[in-house]
Amino acid sequence: MMFEQLPWAGQAKCLQAEPDTFFPEKGGSTREAKRICALCDVANECLAYALANDERFGIWGGKSERERRRLKKAAS
Ligand code: SF4
Repeated sequence: MMFEQLPWAGQAKCLQAEPDTFFPEKGGSTREAKRICALCDVANECLAYALANDERFGIWGGKSERERRRLKKAAS
């Protein structure tokens, strides 16, 4: 499913931002993406979606790839 088609995407703050911000190069800064996620009303939905769908790349719900892996591990 395309991100724009997700039920909560209408409130996604990142759709007004530069997409590259959310998909930084390896080792690149995640600070700006996390700042935007912190202001986003659907961050919980976004993170839950990313975890459920095993999204590997990018910042989702304010969490980086590594942070999401950690969350998954902790939950299993
Ligand atoms: S939490 Fe972050 S990545 Fe998710 S929809 Fe909101 S701004 Fe976008």
